Amino acid sequence: MSVAELWGPVEDGLDLPYWEGLRAGELRLQRCAQCQSWIWGPQWICGHCHTFDPQWETVEPVGTIYSWARSWYPFITELAVPVPYVTVLVELPQAGNRRVLGILTDPTPDTDPVRIGTRVVGHFEHDPGTTWPMLRWTRDTAGAGS
Ligand SMILES: [Zn+2]
Repeated sequence: MSVAELWGPVEDGLDLPYWEGLRAGELRLQRCAQCQSWIWGPQWICGHCHTFDPQWETVEPVGTIYSWARSWYPFITELAVPVPYVTVLVELPQAGNRRVLGILTDPTPDTDPVRIGTRVVGHFEHDPGTTWPMLRWTRDTAGAGS
């Protein structure tokens, strides 16, 4: 299986605006134009009011760690993420507290424990050999206060 099959938009195009956003250096999430609910992951229909075709809005990639896990096994070897790595579930207050998954690229996660509630900032990486960028997270030490 190639990286292209593992990473990037699904064939039906549902999440294409998300991936195009990453290419533009933006985090884009869906929001219902009718009831204003934020939606993640991508859906064809709003789960609250059942309106079709939720809109896409750009969200500042800043949030807090809702949960995290350290992985010692390279589940996706094609992406060449060095092990161990930390996966974070980031809560986005500016998007109705929707939560998105990502990799924490903090340089010292082994010596500086990851804590729930820590403020994190997303950044966009485009690794060689991949067609689509990745959203990665780092702890925001300057904005820490929780
Ligand atoms: Zn709705």
